[in-house]
Amino acid sequence: MSRDAETDAPAVRELSEATVERIAAGEVITRPARVVAELVENALDAGADRVDVSVDGDGTERVRVADDGRGMAREDAARAVEPHTTSKIRAADDLREATTMGFRGEALAAIADAGDIELVTSDGSPVGTRVTITDGDKRIEDAGRARGTTVVVTDLFGDRPARRESLASPAREFGRVSELLTAYALARPEVAFSLEHDGRETASTPGTGLRDALVALYGRETGGESTAVTHRSGVDLADRAANLAVEGRLCYPSTTRSTRDHVHVAVNGRPVRDDALRRAVARGYGSLLPSGREPVAVVRIDLPAWAVDPNVHPAKARVAIRGADAVADAVETGVCEALTTADLRRSGEVAMDLDSSLAPVEGTDSEFADATVLGVFRDLYVVCEAGDDLLVVDQHAAHERVNFERLRTALSDEAVPSAALDPAETVTLDPPTAAAVEEHREDLATLGFSVDPFGGTTYRVTAVPAPLGRVADAAALCGVAADLRDSGGRGGTDALREALLADLACHPSLKAGDALDRETAGRLVERLGECDQPYACPHGRPTVLSVEASTLADGFERHGSR
Ligand code: ADP
Ligand code: MG
Repeated sequence: MSRDAETDAPAVRELSEATVERIAAGEVITRPARVVAELVENALDAGADRVDVSVDGDGTERVRVADDGRGMAREDAARAVEPHTTSKIRAADDLREATTMGFRGEALAAIADAGDIELVTSDGSPVGTRVTITDGDKRIEDAGRARGTTVVVTDLFGDRPARRESLASPAREFGRVSELLTAYALARPEVAFSLEHDGRETASTPGTGLRDALVALYGRETGGESTAVTHRSGVDLADRAANLAVEGRLCYPSTTRSTRDHVHVAVNGRPVRDDALRRAVARGYGSLLPSGREPVAVVRIDLPAWAVDPNVHPAKARVAIRGADAVADAVETGVCEALTTADLRRSGEVAMDLDSSLAPVEGTDSEFADATVLGVFRDLYVVCEAGDDLLVVDQHAAHERVNFERLRTALSDEAVPSAALDPAETVTLDPPTAAAVEEHREDLATLGFSVDPFGGTTYRVTAVPAPLGRVADAAALCGVAADLRDSGGRGGTDALREALLADLACHPSLKAGDALDRETAGRLVERLGECDQPYACPHGRPTVLSVEASTLADGFERHGSR
């Protein structure tokens, strides 16, 4: 596309001042991940089927993005690195309906300003072009290259010590790149992406659709256990009718995370961090999620271009949507419908471990000491009489709470004991979570995990936490590492230890459905009553509902005679 077909003008042109003024202003390149984002967007706009990203160190050393898109003719390449030059819009009015990822014509110039840039490109003609800008000096030469574009950025922020200073550790900065690449790869699953850090491949997607991308990034246990959502509707967006399409994949609610960061939303192919839309996805899961837990999901929304203004945020991380509430409602409906029809059986074998955890704790008063078990309803709920109240105890939640508090007391200040896994098992993590494992190796060791890199984002787990003979499985690493990633290590290992113990407490607990005799049920209720926080399981779900006698009296219209 070197020349405009009708006018024979060069494809990349300088924008008018009036247009430039209407572009959301702000510093474009604030950290290495921003360089990657802009270069990846350019590759996608060029129609690439493959995008390969590699990063050295924290990204200031070197970032390289190569694509197999349509490339540039020489004069376009030379012009593209100048400020406010673009092939994507012509005039200010085009901004409103831009369907490309880029439209501001400032990314390459801003990158060249912040570091040294080398761009090698070919539009398929016999001789390609190399444009280099080093310390502001631009050179243009011949270069051999198949159709496509490679941009290498080195010495980023070399002359901006303050910027450099503001960067986090290499692991953290790479973590941001990794999160970003995950977001693009899930928003554009028909494109194959790969990511390398210091020469080691940490992630790749095959470009064969969303399910494959989700499995590639989140592993088979999480990504494979998912269901498709496809929902089409006509909606009224601020008094204008629009067709809206929602499609994506929803991981089963047996996999959850502590934050909403794993709800990936894209609008018209652009990944966006939009809290309202993420909330809508979580609302669609409704009560399938335990309280305080968030789903893993990808939702791609397609709207007419007029309904979306991408020009509201300097880093294009947000878009303005006309009739945003109606769009959020449609997303919630689509997610909810998809999950209603999906097979949500929870997987996982459960060991029984009653005796050790139901032995009495010396010298503690039980909140439910006066409770008498009346029976067990549907092998799920223990029904008790306690003074004036009728108590209904969720046996599974109760057992989790009891196990959790015992583990916590037993381990109060020590490192979590660990047991060797023989044979060792491998666990594949999504790239940002893998980055968190790299960053928090020592924390993981105090939590009882021994973990070695095993290529890509796969790790060999050679030892697992094993407090009180309760041995975690290798997959527990996923949960702990995800919590590490989401908290960025804030709250230290204490918070992580609590989360880990909560998960361990959960695994070997009674699952709803295991038959309990009345005596065992009685011991369970008594032990629950001895807990510091008897009214919620370690993940925050309630353990006990109580029905007052007066409620029953009201229900049976026994007024006055209680
Ligand atoms: P914008 O993307 O907003 O147009 P950029 O500074 O990012 O601005 O890029 C300027 C121009 O350079 C683009 O409009 C496009 O024509 C061209 N360009 C940049 N990167 C690529 C690429 N990877 N492949 C083909 N063309 C590219
Ligand atoms: Mg761009």
